[in-house]
Amino acid sequence: MTNEKLCPDCGRPFAKGRQSSLTSEVCDNWTHQGRQGCQRRAIIRLRAENARLSEEVRRLKAERQWIRCDERMPEMGERVVVRYFYGRAIAELTPVGFHDADGALRDVTHWVRLPESPK
Ligand SMILES: [Zn+2]
Repeated sequence: MTNEKLCPDCGRPFAKGRQSSLTSEVCDNWTHQGRQGCQRRAIIRLRAENARLSEEVRRLKAERQWIRCDERMPEMGERVVVRYFYGRAIAELTPVGFHDADGALRDVTHWVRLPESPK
């Protein structure tokens, strides 16, 4: 009685961790009163969540990726981190190349966006 949980989908009591369950988030109900069962609906929800998270991971990875200058350049005036002859620097692209506070940077090969400022 104390371990009895109610399925968040159909509201029926169920025991967690049954062998026939694909997910223990909802009850074992596969088909129920002519509707799709709780397990089927849970799988559909989890697939959608998985797709959303995969897209989020892809977006976050792309944000942190070093980009080769011969592939793509940042927006004019955007401050980015660049890899150049002497190492790395925060610089911005100007019509005559990358500049930091001290002037032009030689042999910039890659750049990456700066992270967002803290809120
Ligand atoms: Zn259920």
